[in-house]
Amino acid sequence: MSDYDAVVLGAGLAGLSAAATLIEGGARVLVLEKTLAGGGSTAMSGGWFAWSGTPEQRARGIADDDETFVRDMRVTGGGRADPQLLNAYVEHQREADQWARERLGVVYDVVTLSAGQSVPRSHHADIGLLLKRLHDVVPVVRERRATRFITDAGRVMGVEHGPATITGSSAVVLATGGFSRSTDLLNRFAPKQLAAIPHGGQGNTGDGLHLAEEVGAELRDVDHVGATFGSHPSTPTDRHELLTAFYLGAIIVNRSGERFVDESRTYKEIGTAALDQPGAIGFQVFDQQVRDRSRPGVPLSDIADLESRGLILRADSLPDLAREAGIDADALVRTVDRYNNSSMKDDVGRASLCNGTGTPIPLVDPPFYAYPSRPLMTSTFGGVRVSPATDVLNHQGLPIPGLFAAGEVTGGFHGSSYLTGTALGKALIFGRRAGSRILAGL
Ligand SMILES: Cc1cc2nc3c(=O)[nH]c(=O)nc-3n(C[C@H](O)[C@H](O)[C@H](O)COP(=O)(O)OP(=O)(O)OC[C@H]3O[C@@H](n4cnc5c(N)ncnc54)[C@H](O)[C@@H]3O)c2cc1C
Repeated sequence: MSDYDAVVLGAGLAGLSAAATLIEGGARVLVLEKTLAGGGSTAMSGGWFAWSGTPEQRARGIADDDETFVRDMRVTGGGRADPQLLNAYVEHQREADQWARERLGVVYDVVTLSAGQSVPRSHHADIGLLLKRLHDVVPVVRERRATRFITDAGRVMGVEHGPATITGSSAVVLATGGFSRSTDLLNRFAPKQLAAIPHGGQGNTGDGLHLAEEVGAELRDVDHVGATFGSHPSTPTDRHELLTAFYLGAIIVNRSGERFVDESRTYKEIGTAALDQPGAIGFQVFDQQVRDRSRPGVPLSDIADLESRGLILRADSLPDLAREAGIDADALVRTVDRYNNSSMKDDVGRASLCNGTGTPIPLVDPPFYAYPSRPLMTSTFGGVRVSPATDVLNHQGLPIPGLFAAGEVTGGFHGSSYLTGTALGKALIFGRRAGSRILAGL
């Protein structure tokens, strides 16, 4: 007989949501976290959640519905995402969101358009506060890395962590995050992405994938990894310097002064295109009109903050800007001319600011700016195969008894790319689902 009804591995949003749900339902839960700090990638994230049909959208006159949301996710994922998981997301989003508002005091201060969205659907929350509220109700045992599952006749009964073991629990929830910090797994599944700046939670080395594979779990979409474009080359390990000025109207050029990607595409697709450029670097180039669209305090759109930290280059003319940035000056002038003159379309094209929405503007107002940007390996899309009810599935599509998973460790949800806000969204929704599912079986 175990002291616990469930063991949860990982203290990010997925694990803490599962644990809080179990605790609310009266279950005895043990949460093991590998690192001292915990929080994983969740704590480093921008705090954007993708929801459809919210009061915040309605208040801003944004028409959105679940059907459009599912279509956007399907298109963004290249048609590869599991429709059952997408449907489960929209079906359970309201319950999870409501719980976060009512029990954790979540407030959304901004709603904006971002990668993969045909209408503004990214809702911004204070992620530090959200984690704090979860920690208020969920005790976490830190610096305990789960190293192996204990099984009995195919059922997962507990875990080993270092020299200690926990056995006899009714369920184990795998919420160990992705593998953005694993050189080995990136090398195995998506070696090209090793050229991106390593990022994400320090403990996110794909332990959950190894643990689950050892008990027969199937992996899904692990080769579809995409680093996020555009963080400064000097980005430190604990904080990102991501800017998406291209969704405000900037263009992106390489060192040769040439555009190489349609800037309205998702920042993951742009990241992959940037990895093919010399030095795996691109430059977000814009004029004063775009600079004026900076949104102070809004992650990814706060040009002023990066400027105040001396990271944005500025010059009165394009040739001067190019020289300062180390870009071919003649080519940059030609590129901007062609971009500004709609009758001189180049091969790259661009019809909107972001994913079919918003109108690109000519870059004509000095001064001009450049933000040197590299792809940042923030998160991974693939992982263990799961059912909509969070059971981990084997290669025959059958549940592995006793084992559940939620959050970035899971695969099949995103397909080949990611719509902003769905990683935090899925961690919250499916963390809750895992907790409820286990309670139902107790
Ligand atoms: C810079 C950045 C910005 C982002 N911005 C957004 C955003 O705005 N919106 C969005 O939707 N997504 C965003 N993401 C992605 C998103 O944050 C993650 O996908 C999400 O937080 C994952 O939550 P999780 O609970 O599954 O994993 P995590 O939050 O990573 O938590 C996993 C935890 O498990 C622990 N762990 C690992 N192995 C073990 C083990 N063997 N035993 C015990 N514990 C273990 C880890 O240490 C970690 O604390 C961003 C990511 C980054 C890095």
